[in-house]
Amino acid sequence: MDHKTFFIGGEWVQPSGSNRIDVINATTEEVLGSVPEAEPADVDRAVAAARSAFESGWGQSAPAERADVLDRVADALEKRIDELSLVISQQNGMPHELSRAFEGHYVVSVFRYYAQQARAMQTEELRASPLGSSTEVRRSPIGVVAGIVPWNYPVLLAVSKIAPAMAAGCTLVIKPSPGTVLDSFIFAEAVQEARVPAGVINWVPGGRELGAYIVSHPGVDKVSFTGSTAAGRAIGQACGALLRPVSLELGGKSAAIILDDADLDEVVNGLLHVAIPNNGQTCAASTRILAPASRYDEIVSAVAAWATSLKVGDPLDPGTDVGPLASKEHRDRVEGYIAAGRESGARIVAGGARPSQFNRGWFVEPTVFADVDNSSTIAQAEIFGPVLAIIKYDTEDDAVTIANDSEFGLGGSVWSTDHERALSVARRVQTGTIGINGYALDFNAPFGGVKASGLGREFGPEALAGYQQLKSIYHAG
Ligand code: NAD
Repeated sequence: MDHKTFFIGGEWVQPSGSNRIDVINATTEEVLGSVPEAEPADVDRAVAAARSAFESGWGQSAPAERADVLDRVADALEKRIDELSLVISQQNGMPHELSRAFEGHYVVSVFRYYAQQARAMQTEELRASPLGSSTEVRRSPIGVVAGIVPWNYPVLLAVSKIAPAMAAGCTLVIKPSPGTVLDSFIFAEAVQEARVPAGVINWVPGGRELGAYIVSHPGVDKVSFTGSTAAGRAIGQACGALLRPVSLELGGKSAAIILDDADLDEVVNGLLHVAIPNNGQTCAASTRILAPASRYDEIVSAVAAWATSLKVGDPLDPGTDVGPLASKEHRDRVEGYIAAGRESGARIVAGGARPSQFNRGWFVEPTVFADVDNSSTIAQAEIFGPVLAIIKYDTEDDAVTIANDSEFGLGGSVWSTDHERALSVARRVQTGTIGINGYALDFNAPFGGVKASGLGREFGPEALAGYQQLKSIYHAG
């Protein structure tokens, strides 16, 4: 998987420089492939290609025409689900079943969904004016979008920008994360096969400096970022100075609130997908487990037994629940948090070390801390690994207070056999999304965070609207 060129302006072009990015297999620690690293001159070329595509047709095209293109991209991606999901699991350790589902079938559905949204789109509306006449409200595409994405769900998080932006009539320059850049080349092949007009999507592989260059590029009209809160603040500041529209999908530290009437089997069966999906490398994961004092010991035992029973292994093996973390640096960071948890006085009831059966791969045991103080580091920081913190609460009000005592507000879940009761708790949690007896990322609904988890929303018609600008034309008489 060695690439020599970039996909810019609808063709494979030579890089400006000679630096390369090596991508390492998270399980074997061997080099999986390499790609050229883009330089500012390549970004200039990609932005110019996106601008030209926007102005020479895509930005003025009929939404129904764009819908047909989106459907063709869905078809071309569908053929590549095996190839994409394999390389993603090798790059970042995601269990293969999950990468097939989320980085494969789900992204195909997202393209088809935005094709439908484009077909149903109303771009002109004549409103009766309270002043006596009428006003025409027009929605037009915002222009060239810079999409900057992280490594944890590399295709899905790019598609959450590409599909609605394309449906709106925007063109894009995407910067993938260096650790998971190989999938973007497969994606570009799908785009080429789908006969997406040249320049509508362009990819520039590189790190954070290149990202910063793109964010402030004069040819960019909107920045759509997914990644850490620290980078989001820097990008928000840069866009603020430029008064450039920006959406920020950032970190999380969400709570699973287990009410005292919850079905514990249901909780435990849901935890893999709700609390540590993708080895815990998931922004909206419910990694704080809030347990009622009346059932505390029972819940700690059940969660500890579940974590200990998980199958840790090669993400490509069927039946693997937890694969390796995405990089050595990331494993070091996660282990640093486990050490902080030990120092805080919390009690380890499962895991806490590297699994002994592997002599390579960045594995960490599924780890559960009990007796966690919500003010401690392991309850406040986003660990982004298979590490859970169980926190005891007394009343329902306490549970809501603890859930809300976080700088983040992205996901969450409430577990109860009484749906109305769970719903009333869910409504009080300060978060952008929350599930009852589970958590499902519904692409027909807005997804995003409050507080330090971000600004703006992805998915749903709301995401598409975020790539449009509004103009009101007053008809005086
Ligand atoms: P990161 O912020 O380090 O990097 C994300 C992307 O931004 C990468 O492509 C990186 O090269 C680029 N980047 C970093 N600093 C930049 C800067 N100053 N200017 C421009 N580009 C910059 O994050 P990561 O470690 O790759 O991903 C993990 C983080 O992403 C976690 O915090 C996670 O919660 C968050 N995330 C959020 C969501 C969401 O939808 N809210 C989804 C997935 C991941």
